[in-house]
Amino acid sequence: MIVCKFGGTSVADAAAISRVVDIIATKREQQPVVVVSALGGATNMLLDIANKAAGGELLSALQLIEQLRDRHLREARALLAGSHDAEDVAVEVGTTFDELAHLAEAFKTLGYLTPRSLDAVAAIGELLSSQIVAATFRARGFDAVCVDARDVMRTNDFFTKAEPDVEEIARLAQERLVPLVLQNRIPVMGGFVGATAARVTTTLGRGGSDYSASLVGAAIDATAIEIWTDVDGMLTADPRIIPGARLIERISFDEAAELAAFGAKVLHPATIAPAVQRGIPVYVFNSRNPAARGTMIAFDAPRLPVRAIAGKRATTMVKLRSSRMLLAPGFLRRVFEVFETHRTSVDVVTTSEVSVSVTLDDATNLGAILQDLAAFGDVSVSPRAGLLAIVGAGIADGSQAIAQALAALGPIPVHMASLSATGINFTLVIDDDQVVAAMQRLHATFFEQTP
Ligand code: ADP
Ligand code: ASP
Ligand code: MG
Repeated sequence: MIVCKFGGTSVADAAAISRVVDIIATKREQQPVVVVSALGGATNMLLDIANKAAGGELLSALQLIEQLRDRHLREARALLAGSHDAEDVAVEVGTTFDELAHLAEAFKTLGYLTPRSLDAVAAIGELLSSQIVAATFRARGFDAVCVDARDVMRTNDFFTKAEPDVEEIARLAQERLVPLVLQNRIPVMGGFVGATAARVTTTLGRGGSDYSASLVGAAIDATAIEIWTDVDGMLTADPRIIPGARLIERISFDEAAELAAFGAKVLHPATIAPAVQRGIPVYVFNSRNPAARGTMIAFDAPRLPVRAIAGKRATTMVKLRSSRMLLAPGFLRRVFEVFETHRTSVDVVTTSEVSVSVTLDDATNLGAILQDLAAFGDVSVSPRAGLLAIVGAGIADGSQAIAQALAALGPIPVHMASLSATGINFTLVIDDDQVVAAMQRLHATFFEQTP
């Protein structure tokens, strides 16, 4: 069995969904389970609808609902015209958007949104795309079954970023997905969406369909997890920033996980962990160019000083200076308890005898964090910091790569620097508005120089 996940652009319209069917048609012998995202851009639009309605802009919310309804109906019609499922799918799309319009009215009346209601709205994208894709398979003569993700993806109730219950997911996947595969049928499930034990709808967080795919892969002990997207594979940098970024043919789990965590959007940061635990290789392929080789992510890969770089903007840097840190056992623990209390994870940490600097991806609870930290000493904040990650299993093998990285930055000021304990990620904190220039300089140094 294999898991094939198709992202938003890979199911964006009828032409893209047809390509999905063509790709899966070549994989029947490998017994695929298909995981799909919402139609590209649909999740953004759904969240926009909810926010507009709660903000009092009911009319714009209703207009967006009609646009999204029309889009789903149009693509479904193009794919399913004349098929058995055409009518049922159209009714399902219609009912779903009617219900959403009622919800929008309720949000308008309430004037606020809860994370729980946001998840109920966001999930609509994948719940519909999975039905359209499954019906398309059937219209093309394949025996596909749409599986409601809420029957498999058991999570806790941390709405908008729910955490999976891995054991329950394994049990439910064995019960719901595996028998279908063994009957030679193709299960099609929405990614991103889950449900609590009480069957309240949750989501795994933005970009979470990759994570759904790897959780399903681990749950059914798949032989491969394939992430089908809109680029040829994992590249040496984000191609939107570095148009000449190169394909990585093979990369280790550790390196891929670091890149994902530090901004390589091609994989959700949590995707690698379930695959590593079961030793399942993860492939990244291009659904518009299925003949290309793609990237294989596995335990080992040729050791290089630098495999790729990643960058992340809009990060917050917090610096704490305290003379009391000197010789005070337990000081760092107490500082980190502050972040734990406010459910905020820390990305990069550097310390000296009298100071600790950290970066935060999510500054939602910054006010409360700063208040608590003030008890320890002087606190300063830079709300516009950026991260650079220079990733390679051999980065610490000699001092050369690190020296080259620092030299490449030239005049760009560095605020923090950290080499991961595993010696595969050299992370730098710089100003947010320097991230693009810094990535260009690093990419030129490590990947564009003729030997
Ligand atoms: P999907 O909808 O298929 O999940 P995403 O937009 O989430 O697709 O991820 C694919 C995008 O990730 C690419 O189009 C590319 O712009 C971006 N990206 C960022 N860093 C990298 C990288 N190192 N390699 C490949 N793509 C990257
Ligand atoms: N549709 C969801 C999002 O846009 C999940 C995904 O595409 O991975 O975040
Ligand atoms: Mg994605």
